[in-house]
Amino acid sequence: MSQIRNIVILTGAGISAESGIDTFRGGGGLWEQHRVEDVATPEAFARDPNLVLRFYDMRREAIQEKLPNAAHFALAELDAKWQGNLLIVTQNVDDLHERGGARRVLHMHGEHLKAWCTSCDVRSHWRGTLLDRPPCPVCQARTLRPDVVWFGEMPYRMGEIYGALREADLFVSIGTSGAVYPAAGFVQNARELGVQTLELNLERSQGSALFHETRLGPATEVVPAWVAEMIQ
Ligand code: NAD
Repeated sequence: MSQIRNIVILTGAGISAESGIDTFRGGGGLWEQHRVEDVATPEAFARDPNLVLRFYDMRREAIQEKLPNAAHFALAELDAKWQGNLLIVTQNVDDLHERGGARRVLHMHGEHLKAWCTSCDVRSHWRGTLLDRPPCPVCQARTLRPDVVWFGEMPYRMGEIYGALREADLFVSIGTSGAVYPAAGFVQNARELGVQTLELNLERSQGSALFHETRLGPATEVVPAWVAEMIQ
């Protein structure tokens, strides 16, 4: 790994699983009680805004009680010590990377703790409810929605992500099933660019064969072990 200078890390719900946040397709989670189409699409919001807002209110409240785990802390240590470029692209809408201390984090699917005003296009930090249609702190319109990218919407800052991949020497995918595009396609982009690829996951993801190396195990074990190798 000595010739590695620029790193892009993609994280998914699996890195927050041991903090007690349900993964998308794991058993028994909130996602299981709701079909994705009923809560995580623009069509669902147009059809039944109260159901969608109540669902996101619950998720927003729940994540604030959760704590970062050893995997979040390890990536924060890597972020602090790594001299080259490093970008943590997360599909997660929780804030556990930031609370773990990481700074170079890009939320491609938005953030639970932000509300987006569709009238004035300003994003505001948000911790409470959106169900009672509070006014936007900037323009006062009652048009706030969760600042979360729903299925069928364009993820954020894709140009920056592809730019970082073009510069990367190593692409690492952590705790993601490889089922949600475009994030699931990053490994293919990386391979086409000649970038080394590593998967850290509990079980092999759908795109597992595309990685040069796969290490299986819980994120709180495999991530700190990998980070220790990188910063030794
Ligand atoms: P996913 O649920 O589809 O896949 C989770 C992956 O994590 C699986 O491959 C699973 O094997 C792995 N995993 C489970 N427990 C693990 C552990 N302890 N250690 C390591 N790996 C573990 O999640 P995804 O691929 O991130 O895609 C789901 C979508 O849902 C994303 O778009 C994301 O925005 C959203 N989501 C976010 C959160 C969050 O913010 N924490 C939670 C659920 C869903």
